[in-house]
Amino acid sequence: MKTGEPELISDLERRVAPLDMDPETFRRLGHRVVDRMAEVLASLPNRPVTSGARPTQVRQLLGGDRLPERGADPEALLDRTAALLAEHSLYNGHPRFFGYITSSPAPIGALGDLMAAIVNPNVSAWELSPVATEIESQAIRWIAELIGYPSDCGGILVSGGNMANFVAFLAARRAKAPWDVRTGGVVGPDDERLAAYASKETHTWIQKATDLFGLGTNAIRWIPTNERYAMDVGALRERIAADRAAGALPFLVVGTGGSVSTGAVDPLPEIAEVCRENGLWFHVDGAYGGLAAALPDAPPELYGLREADSVAVDPHKWLYSPIEAGCTLVRDAKALHDAFSYKPPYYFFDNDEFDAGRNYVEYGPQNTRGFRALKVWLGLQQAGREGATRMIADDVRLSRALFAAVSRHPELEPMVQGLSIATFRYAPAELRDGSKAAEDYLGALNRELNTRLKRGGRIFLTNAVLDGRFVLRACIVNFRTRLSDVEAVPEIVAAEGRELDHAMRPAGLKR
Ligand SMILES: *Cc1c(COP(=O)(O)O)cnc(C)c1O
Repeated sequence: MKTGEPELISDLERRVAPLDMDPETFRRLGHRVVDRMAEVLASLPNRPVTSGARPTQVRQLLGGDRLPERGADPEALLDRTAALLAEHSLYNGHPRFFGYITSSPAPIGALGDLMAAIVNPNVSAWELSPVATEIESQAIRWIAELIGYPSDCGGILVSGGNMANFVAFLAARRAKAPWDVRTGGVVGPDDERLAAYASKETHTWIQKATDLFGLGTNAIRWIPTNERYAMDVGALRERIAADRAAGALPFLVVGTGGSVSTGAVDPLPEIAEVCRENGLWFHVDGAYGGLAAALPDAPPELYGLREADSVAVDPHKWLYSPIEAGCTLVRDAKALHDAFSYKPPYYFFDNDEFDAGRNYVEYGPQNTRGFRALKVWLGLQQAGREGATRMIADDVRLSRALFAAVSRHPELEPMVQGLSIATFRYAPAELRDGSKAAEDYLGALNRELNTRLKRGGRIFLTNAVLDGRFVLRACIVNFRTRLSDVEAVPEIVAAEGRELDHAMRPAGLKR
C-alpha cells in the first residue's frame, strides 16, 4: 500500500479497530473529560444561561461540511467537544433557568450514564441484561411507591412524557376496545369509532397519540376547563353521554396532574369516578406533576392519580434524571403486556414472564432498549424518599416566592401560580384597562420581551397563552435555584420591559 492512501484493510490478527480505546487511554481521557465537566458545573452560576448565539453562528463553528476522511485523535477531539459544549449550550442546570419543564440534571445520573454505556446492556430481555432489568424493575417500583401508586403495578421506562403517555394510550386502547384492535385496527367491525376525553389544557402528546396510532385527532373530545384551568367534570359527563347516544365508543379519559401552562391539576378523584361509572380507562398525565404526589401537602386532587389505570411520570423532570427518562405505570401489569407482547421465533428466552425475569421488549414499543434506568435508580437512592420529596417541595416554595415577588412589583401583573409554575406579564398599571388596543399591545410587548430575555442569558423564562393573553412563565424544576435567584426575576423582567415599552408603545395608548 502506498503511504498516504486510506487504509481500508486491516491485518486481521493485529487488528486495532479505529474506535477501540485501550483501557489506559480510556482512563486518562475519561479523567480529562470528567475534569472538563466538573469545570462546567463549577462555572454555572457565573455564566449566562445561554450564549444567545444564532443557528448560523453555531453551524459555522462546527465547520467541515463533509465527513472527515481520516479519523481524529480522540484527546484533541474530546477537548474541542468539551469547549464547544461549554460555550454554546443552554444550561437547564443553571440556577436561573426557569424555562419549559426541563430539570437541572443530577450529576450522579451523568456518572450513571457513563457506567451504563460501558456495560451497554440491552434491556429488552432479562438474559441480555440481568442486573439492568432488575434495576429497572426496582426503579419503577420505587417511583410507584413514591407517589402512592400500587408498587405491584406494571411499568416501563421510556424516553420521556410523550412516550410514557403513548404507552398508556396503547394499553388503554387494547384493554377497552370491544374488538381486538391489535389485529383489526382502530375502526370496529360495524364502523365504531373510539373516543378519548381530555381537557383543553392537555399537552400535545394526545394529538400525536391519536394521530400516530390511527384514530385521528377528531377522536379527541376537548373538555372545557374552569377558571383554574382544570377540567370541568360536569362537561365531561355530558359529553360522554352525548357521544354514547350518537354511537361513538368512549374508551379513555385523560386527567392531567400538573398542566404545562399553569401547573393546574384536574379533579382526578372525580374523573376516576366518572371512569368507574362508565367503564372507561382512566389515565393520568403526570409527566410534570405526578411526582409531586410524594408531597404530604400536594394539591389534594393530585392524590387521585392513585386511582388511575395508568400514570405517566417523567424522571427527567421532578426526579432530575438527565434527559431522557419517562415512565409509564399501569395498575394491571398484564394490560401492559397484552398491549405489546409478541413471541417471534427468533427470540427464545428461557424465562417465565411473570415469575423469573421480565422481558421488557414485551411491555413497550421499543426492541433494543438502553439502560436509562441506572441514572434514575442512582438518583432515587442518593436522595432517598426524604431528599426527593424535599427537592420538589423546595421548588414549589420557590415558585410561590417568585409569584409573591412578582405580585409586589408595580409594573408586573401576576396571573396564576400552580405547583412550581408562576405566570405573569409586564403590564404598567395604565395599560390594564382590558381594552382591545391595550391587550393587543401587551401581547406584542410581552412576546418581544420573552425573546429578549431568552437571548439575554440572565434568566431563562418561557411563555404561556392564558385566555388568549401571552404571558411569561417561570417553571422551577431546578435544585440549584435559590431564593435570591427568584427574587432577582422581577427587576430583570421589569427593566427590560420598561426599555422595550419606551421603544414600542404606540402614540394612541395612554402614557
Ligand atoms: C413535559 C410534559 C409532557 C411531555 O413530556 P416529554 O418528556 O417532553 O416528552 C407531557 N405532558 C406534560 C403534562 C408534560 O409536562
